[in-house]
Amino acid sequence: MRAHPDAYRYDVAILGGAVMGSSTAYFLKTLAPSASVCVIEPDPTYEFCSTLRSSGGVRVLFSCPENIEMSKFGRAFIRDCPSALAVEGREAPVDWVQGGYLFIVTPNGMTLLESNFERQQAHGCEVELLTPEQLKQRFPSMYVDDLAGGVHSLHDGWCDPNGLLQGLRRKAISLGVEYVADRVISVSRTATAVSEVRLSSGASVRADAIVNATGAWSAKLCEMIDMPLPVVPLRRFEHYFTAGTRIEPLPYVKDLERLAFRSEGVGFSGGLVNGDEPRGFNFDVDHDYFERVMWPAVAHRFPPFEAAKCHRTWSGLYEQCELDGNPIIGSWSGRCENFYVVTGFSGHGMMHAPAAGRALAELIVHRSFQTLDLSRFGYDRITRSEPYPEAGIL
Ligand SMILES: Cc1cc2nc3c(=O)[nH]c(=O)nc-3n(C[C@H](O)[C@H](O)[C@H](O)COP(=O)(O)OP(=O)(O)OC[C@H]3O[C@@H](n4cnc5c(N)ncnc54)[C@H](O)[C@@H]3O)c2cc1C
Repeated sequence: MRAHPDAYRYDVAILGGAVMGSSTAYFLKTLAPSASVCVIEPDPTYEFCSTLRSSGGVRVLFSCPENIEMSKFGRAFIRDCPSALAVEGREAPVDWVQGGYLFIVTPNGMTLLESNFERQQAHGCEVELLTPEQLKQRFPSMYVDDLAGGVHSLHDGWCDPNGLLQGLRRKAISLGVEYVADRVISVSRTATAVSEVRLSSGASVRADAIVNATGAWSAKLCEMIDMPLPVVPLRRFEHYFTAGTRIEPLPYVKDLERLAFRSEGVGFSGGLVNGDEPRGFNFDVDHDYFERVMWPAVAHRFPPFEAAKCHRTWSGLYEQCELDGNPIIGSWSGRCENFYVVTGFSGHGMMHAPAAGRALAELIVHRSFQTLDLSRFGYDRITRSEPYPEAGIL
């Protein structure tokens, strides 16, 4: 941070500098190049942030039109990252793999799958509805006898979330964004606006607009200004495992019981979300989880995984929106209009970071969404307690 006291005042201060904060910073500088923007991030190693623990999946398989469109934008953005986020000729690698995405359902999920499929088609997505026989033909090692169908999204895939974060961060810095290695410890507000944030170093930062992009920590920062936010940390395990026997190339596979995995190098990376997991900041690893929960599920669906071996398990936090599983993007109208939140992505934040960062930048610069209308993801639904749920597989 620069030494002169004026340096502590910015047009926009972003709290949290992982994928969401860095995306917002990048899009702000592309929309308003002369704006002064800082990102306050306590940990330049990003050790506990969700972004680095994510499995990097990108899919258009959602039910809400907003989520489908955010994914379409995010997918194209991620694909183009190496050149679009290049700095001084140095590319921004994100290891994009267009391996496809496959949602599979048992009979009780078929109506939902079909209606989502129609919605996805109406949004121009390249998706195919497959019968169990067609699934078996395409993926011979899959057990399909208890399945009613699946949707295969051919242009989806996965990437390296750290590559995306570092690319956005480096590009934002090259455009003039300042990253401040400090932690926000308090936020002060007047009757209608946030005036400043105080940092653990003792410094304070004033800004016309302040963005809370602190993911699973975002409700803690909102508490500082008595702003209710139904976003809680939800621990999820991710495992790296190998099959033990040869298996055909698979897309990112996901089912109604929340089994989700994809290939990674010679093995696979994935997990199975426990929705009943007690909420809270818990990074402990249950080393029996793979054997107890994940392995039976994956071996049931793909019998060659009977011989699977788990090599590593790590934990990460979803910034889970308890109201409806959808993000919250916007500010508190009439109460604190210059304090914006971009959080609550409930497991989809990496793929939606490009669209969310762009949307928030539009909201700050133009006072309204310009490209995708994300009003239904606004904070107003929280004050009105009106859920807008995502009915895709979460
Ligand atoms: C196991 C796992 C798998 C996932 N898989 C996928 C997937 O396949 N696809 C997908 O799209 N999403 C996935 N996600 C979700 C995705 O990772 C998150 O939605 C996304 O990374 C959220 O980004 P963020 O920047 O909001 O939060 P984070 O990455 O958590 O960053 C928040 C930042 O805020 C900072 N911070 C905290 N407190 C303060 C403070 N007081 N002051 C300043 N800064 C602060 C932290 O240091 C941190 O760097 C997965 C998540 C997990 C855990």
